Amino acid sequence: MLGGNGSTLAVVNSFRTESSGKAITARLVPVAWTPIGVVVGDSWQNVGIALAGLFDWVDRTFPPEDERAFIAPMRDIELLARIAWESPLPETIDEGSVLNIEDVPEEIAEALAHPPAAIVQCAACRRLCVSDDFVWKEKQLCAWDYHTQVFGKRGPWRNGAYEERHFETLSECAYVAPPLLAEMGVEVVLMLSDVPEATARAMINVLLDADPERPYLAVRTAAGGFTVLRE
Ligand SMILES: [Zn+2]
Repeated sequence: MLGGNGSTLAVVNSFRTESSGKAITARLVPVAWTPIGVVVGDSWQNVGIALAGLFDWVDRTFPPEDERAFIAPMRDIELLARIAWESPLPETIDEGSVLNIEDVPEEIAEALAHPPAAIVQCAACRRLCVSDDFVWKEKQLCAWDYHTQVFGKRGPWRNGAYEERHFETLSECAYVAPPLLAEMGVEVVLMLSDVPEATARAMINVLLDADPERPYLAVRTAAGGFTVLRE
């Protein structure tokens, strides 16, 4: 691992240059910083870097003024370059395949311990996010934009019990992040997982029926769960 920042990790598996251009190939792997931790992308882009300009490239790409930027100790990289270190390119980049995992920040090392995921750009703010975690009106959003749009003032809030047709059209997302709701003055009042659909609907309606004066919003979460929010 050469270095990284809030959106990209740069890794190298060979310091042997092509005789033609004296360049090595670095792989740029996308990373998403989500409310539940960092996720490493399941794809990468190749970039050719002149070996002689490697340190400049790393310094320019991951500058110290970027608070999420880090770089590997350059002495170690220099040594690997000098011995023309090479290792087969792994199918996925994980904690076991990173030679200098101890130089990687904790959040990134943690992410490398989990399976990689498809990463896409948020349609609203261009931030990177895990694909399909937050889709609203057919647009891929990040956790932040989804929470603002769906759980904000103009979201699908409702007073009183849901009818069957409302349950058919509930919004869905991978997870609800309470820290993002706190800033909006929204509370989580019920979280259900692995409850039969009919039971879940009945439980939600007991809650909504008992307090028709206040707006509530139920959302479907991953693996058949439900979260109920109160404005
Ligand atoms: Zn966004």
